[in-house]
Amino acid sequence: MTPPDRTAPPLRAVRIQAKCPVCGKLADTKYRPFCAKRCADIDLGRWLKEGYRVPTDEGPENDDPETSQGRTGQDR
Ligand SMILES: [Zn+2]
Repeated sequence: MTPPDRTAPPLRAVRIQAKCPVCGKLADTKYRPFCAKRCADIDLGRWLKEGYRVPTDEGPENDDPETSQGRTGQDR
């Protein structure tokens, strides 16, 4: 028998209050942990930028259409 501990919030509550790391809005279950696809793209862009900084043996010569998504030109 374990009485509810008020000092530690249940993990479920933390999950529900997940916020978009980009704009801070509540995350949408469809685009978790982001609130929208736009924010997911923004975060992905940042992540890729940081990735380019890391020296790696494999250059970005692999023109895989699956990895170069998000550049469809529909945003402008
Ligand atoms: Zn957002």
